[in-house]
Amino acid sequence: MSGKSQTVLLSGPDVGDLEQEFVLAALRSGWVAPVGPDLDAFEREIAERVGVPHAVGLSSGTAALHLALLGLGAGPGDVVVVPTLTFVATANAVVYTGATPVFADCDPVTGNLDPDLLAELLAELTAAGTPVRAVLTVDLYGCCADYERLLPICERYGVPLVEDAAEALGATCRGRAAGSFGRAAALSFNGNKIITTSGGGMLLTADAGLAGRARHLAGQARLPAEHYEHAEVGYNYRLSNLLAALGRAQLRRLDEMIERRRAVHDAYAKIFSGVDGVRLLGDADPAANCWLSCAVVDPERTGWPVAELAAHLAARRVETRPIFKPMHLQPLFAGARAVLSGAAEHLFRHGLALPSGSALTGEQVRWVLDGVAEFLDGRR
Ligand SMILES: *Cc1c(COP(=O)(O)O)cnc(C)c1O
Repeated sequence: MSGKSQTVLLSGPDVGDLEQEFVLAALRSGWVAPVGPDLDAFEREIAERVGVPHAVGLSSGTAALHLALLGLGAGPGDVVVVPTLTFVATANAVVYTGATPVFADCDPVTGNLDPDLLAELLAELTAAGTPVRAVLTVDLYGCCADYERLLPICERYGVPLVEDAAEALGATCRGRAAGSFGRAAALSFNGNKIITTSGGGMLLTADAGLAGRARHLAGQARLPAEHYEHAEVGYNYRLSNLLAALGRAQLRRLDEMIERRRAVHDAYAKIFSGVDGVRLLGDADPAANCWLSCAVVDPERTGWPVAELAAHLAARRVETRPIFKPMHLQPLFAGARAVLSGAAEHLFRHGLALPSGSALTGEQVRWVLDGVAEFLDGRR
């Protein structure tokens, strides 16, 4: 199929024969439930890949964030620090617990939580006697946050860090895998993520108590008894064994899929390298998983705004999307407390996510690159 007749997607699912084989085998095994050998194996395999002792397979990354926060005791009256530049799920998980998100701005180069602003905010909140239950970090677009600086800051104030690694499976930070930082981490296997179970997620932690608690709450908090016995509110958050089988096949292809995304990323880096005023978000990080490649445009230097590039590509049926709209600018969080530098809003206004999926064909990538080249030629 030519890129001309089909929309080129930002990050479509990449499934093939191996996935069919695994799902069919699971179906034939009879384990068509949220328990079973594929789920157990998927949890073990992800835990091993990331290098954490415990993994709990869940129905979404959002559920993993929710249970991680509940496990840390987050509730009404507590504050949880959240990067303002993220997908809404990060902040929603805080709201589910009854705690209040307080937003902090990002590093202008990577888009990840700004350590200086975090230190400032924790000093202020602590001085005011506000109970801070957790700091959430996001490994934005598959590029790890600056854990070398963020972890000691959290330690200094005795606040646990929860890593939202939904976009970052396979990325590393100084040799350590995304999903291994902090007291707990969340992965997502949603359809647009680096690997998919159609819908799904996982909670990762070295804390056996927290893992056990998450497992308990994810199964409607059912207590061990012949009959149905419940002492607290639980959730129906477990991952299906069938979907775990899909995840196992995807995990086997993770490195190959990251390589493909990196090749696409490098092609964008090359085409923009000679253009004054355009850079790629987080381009300095060679250990990112290149989940989405985002161009950031300085219109004063280029002479054109990023929206014109988006419109040019849209006319060729190439899907693009602005970088996340920061949480402090969302109607949902109007009036929420936020410490701001302007960096997140800048990235939202001048950033554009480009087609980055591992399922893109060579022809589709060329179609996108030709579109970019054509646009750049027209503006020179
Ligand atoms: C996708 C995503 C989530 C939510 O994961 P789901 O599996 O879709 O619930 C959370 N945080 C970030 C940063 C994400 O990109």
